[in-house]
Amino acid sequence: MSIAENVAKVKANIAAAAREAGRDPGEITLVAATKVQTAETVREAIAAGVAICGENRVQEMAEKLSRYAYDGARLHFIGHLQTNKVRQVVGRVDMIESVGSEHLLDAVEIQAAKLDIVQDILLEVNIGGEASKSGVSQAALLPLARKAAALPHIRLRGLMAIPPAAGEPGENRHFFAEMRHLFVDIRTALDDNVSDIDCLSMGMSGDYEDAVREGATLVRVGTALFGPRPPMGQA
Ligand SMILES: *Cc1c(COP(=O)(O)O)cnc(C)c1O
Repeated sequence: MSIAENVAKVKANIAAAAREAGRDPGEITLVAATKVQTAETVREAIAAGVAICGENRVQEMAEKLSRYAYDGARLHFIGHLQTNKVRQVVGRVDMIESVGSEHLLDAVEIQAAKLDIVQDILLEVNIGGEASKSGVSQAALLPLARKAAALPHIRLRGLMAIPPAAGEPGENRHFFAEMRHLFVDIRTALDDNVSDIDCLSMGMSGDYEDAVREGATLVRVGTALFGPRPPMGQA
């Protein structure tokens, strides 16, 4: 299938899952996870109706930016971000979805202040409590969210999660439900900022429909649009 056909199919599946859950399909936006894809492929996806691209690697993103690959779409950073690379990301992307520590939050604030901009961010939650994964623990989330909401050069837009790799279809649905509860809790606790907090980013190729059923507003899909990637590290 072509990329255009895949984009249409994934969007149709998102809309069907939304309707099934009594949601307006217009509340959900597809983020194309474009890691390892060429600038040419990214342009093809945007021409096919992708409105947001999500990148994981700073260097790869910089190369594609220099080739204007994302023109016509918004750009989100969705990968693990080291503080020493914050300068290459803040102000260059519409949203950093993967802020998973106070240390990184502080670094983003400092860089955004230098540029005199307000950077949109999501806080990444380690919803599976996995030692190997980045992201803030559920216990640390509310204090960090309060801090983020109070920083002058940060606009907290919501939460993001990457649950454990699922073996069986449906296995991650309870994590998505937990994320929806955390999202509602944060909105309630930070009621001054509630109109800004409108993004819940969860769901990938194997489980985005379940994520939509549980309230996702952003789903990050790679393989279902572009086909399988080479194993990590060999790209
Ligand atoms: C690669 C990636 C995705 C998409 O994964 P697929 O399984 O290929 O859809 C989503 N989110 C993040 C953070 C990713 O790195």
